[in-house]
Amino acid sequence: MIGHFITRLLPQRFKKAPRIYRAAQHTIRADAIDEAALSVVRRLHSAGFQAFIVGGAVRDLMLGRRPKDFDIATDATPEETKPLFRRAFIIGRRFRLVHVHVSHDVIEVSTFRSAQTDEDATDEHGRLLSDNVYGTQAEDALRRDFTINALYFDPETEEIWDYVGGVNDVRARRLKLIGSPTTRYREDPVRMLRAVRLASKLGLTLAPTSEAPLTKLAALMRNIPPARLFEETQKLLLSGNASETVAQVRRYQLLPSFDALLSTPIAERFADLALAHTDARLKIGKTVSPAYLFAALLWPTVTRERDAHIEAGMKPAPAFITAMDTALEEHAKMLAVPRRFQGIIREIWGLQPRFEQRQGQRPYRLLEQPRFRAAYDFLCLRTENREMPRELSVWWEKFQEADMDARKEMLAAAPKPATGSGSRPRRRRKKHSHAKTTAASAE
Ligand code: ATP
Ligand code: MG
Repeated sequence: MIGHFITRLLPQRFKKAPRIYRAAQHTIRADAIDEAALSVVRRLHSAGFQAFIVGGAVRDLMLGRRPKDFDIATDATPEETKPLFRRAFIIGRRFRLVHVHVSHDVIEVSTFRSAQTDEDATDEHGRLLSDNVYGTQAEDALRRDFTINALYFDPETEEIWDYVGGVNDVRARRLKLIGSPTTRYREDPVRMLRAVRLASKLGLTLAPTSEAPLTKLAALMRNIPPARLFEETQKLLLSGNASETVAQVRRYQLLPSFDALLSTPIAERFADLALAHTDARLKIGKTVSPAYLFAALLWPTVTRERDAHIEAGMKPAPAFITAMDTALEEHAKMLAVPRRFQGIIREIWGLQPRFEQRQGQRPYRLLEQPRFRAAYDFLCLRTENREMPRELSVWWEKFQEADMDARKEMLAAAPKPATGSGSRPRRRRKKHSHAKTTAASAE
């Protein structure tokens, strides 16, 4: 292992000269870079190292977008980087990075690394199992996914260093994998999801050669470790452009779990609504809880299962609970939803029947539930989808804002619960006992 590591540090490394774009040849200025990131670059430079802003930030700035964060790439090793800063921590087991804390910011500094090309570093499908060796800057560029993600900006000289034609691709609004697309997707199938997500988020056209292998290689998605798959799915749903991205993911059949979940027109309509809501919220700078979104994607499965159980003679309350269990056990697993989210999803669902209980102290108790807000938003989705009467979400909106007296009046005038969420209107028989069981199911 150590021998292998040392040979990788010897000088017969891949060295290619970059094409350098001077300040006058492009539009990124140093003042667009976060002060914290700038200070880290300057410190590395003054210690004699190379340091560049790299990846998504350079791409976003060239596209006229505000970057989420500013990552730095350097030829200094983590051990050389850490002592240069007052608060810096080496993190990561697989590949070591340095997190430099500058006031409230954390700047990620990574050492140039090379993609391993040895055969034993991939699994039988060609998936890279490790990319844990330092390399030259040219190698660092080549192991990145897309040409537009492999640009290096030096804020002190305002130069962009480009090893892979990324500047031309940004200008052509083209998303193109570096190297052979089939090999690169095999190395890391998550790149297929990234291709679709970045193209829709940034309004880019996927290069035909990068697009062609997608459907053919979609089966490789099965080999992605669950935690990583969930992380990527979440990014995709919270991209601010989820409606379009999910449509593309389905077009290339990258996530079969989506097809299973959205297999009926009702499920599709509910998901479309949820995704459109999410996109709208993110556009105006509001946050979205991923649990809420997964709760929405899985909800049509819950109602379908619940209705089937009722049809088979089960009482509404146990039917609802069994349906929630099935949806979480079977479908949440396909989407690799972590346990901690499953708990929140169940709470959001479980509170739904309680919105129909508008008598006595119940509405007050519901307001105090920690998940009230998410559950209420979820109720709005259901009323918008005409699964529940619109009157119900309007009532709750008013009730939240009303003062004590107005609330009392609203309660006095509120309709008695007619149909619990656990029931279906046309099978309604004994109104009141029914309402009790559905309320109980939510406690
Ligand atoms: P986002 O806007 O979603 O943050 P990003 O491109 O910055 O997009 P990150 O996950 O933050 O995505 O990754 C930072 C950089 O690391 C990328 O720009 C790219 O250069 C490289 N990278 C990320 N994922 C991969 C991958 N799967 N294979 C190769 N390089 C990758
Ligand atoms: Mg990023």
